Amino acid sequence: MEITLAVIKPHVLRNTYALQQIKTLIEENFRVLDHKEVHITKELSDRFYAEHRGKFFYHRLTTFMNSGPCYALILQSEASIQKWRRLMGPTKVFRAVYTEPQCIRALYGLSDTRNACHGSDSEASALREIGILFPEFDVL
Ligand code: ATP
Ligand code: MG
Repeated sequence: MEITLAVIKPHVLRNTYALQQIKTLIEENFRVLDHKEVHITKELSDRFYAEHRGKFFYHRLTTFMNSGPCYALILQSEASIQKWRRLMGPTKVFRAVYTEPQCIRALYGLSDTRNACHGSDSEASALREIGILFPEFDVL
C-alpha cells in the first residue's frame, strides 16, 4: 500500500481546534505509520524545499516553516498521495475557498504560504521527504 508524507504547518499547531479536526480527518482516512512534532530548522527546510530554491516565495516559505513546530505524519492507504492531496485541496487558498470550501486549505489556510499543510506529490517525493523528516523510518 502507498505511503505519503503529510506536514501540518506552524500556524495550525497554534490552533488546537484546527489541529484536532485535521488529526480526526487523517485517522478516518489513513493508517498513521509514524507521527511527531518537528521543528523544521533552516537546514531541513532548505533540503525539503530544494526544488523551489530561487522562486519568489522561497524565503517567505522557508522562514515560515522555521517559525514554530510543525506536525509530520507518515500516512498509508490505497492511493494515499492523491487521497491526502484531495483532502488538502488546491495550493492557493483563495482557489480552495472558491472551489472546495470544505477542504483543509479552505478551512484553515491563511495565505498561499500559510496554506495549512503539505503533501508529497509523487512516490519519489514521499520517500525523499520522509527521509528528511523521519531519517530513522525504514521505508523498506
Ligand atoms: P504541487 O507540488 O502540486 O505544486 P503543492 O501544494 O505541494 O503543490 P508547491 O507548488 O509544491 O505546492 O509549493 C510548495 C509550497 O510553497 C506550497 O505549499 C506553499 O506553501 C508555497 N507556495 C507555492 N506557491 C506559492 C505562491 N505563489 N506564493 C506563496 N507561497 C507559495
Ligand atoms: Mg509540492
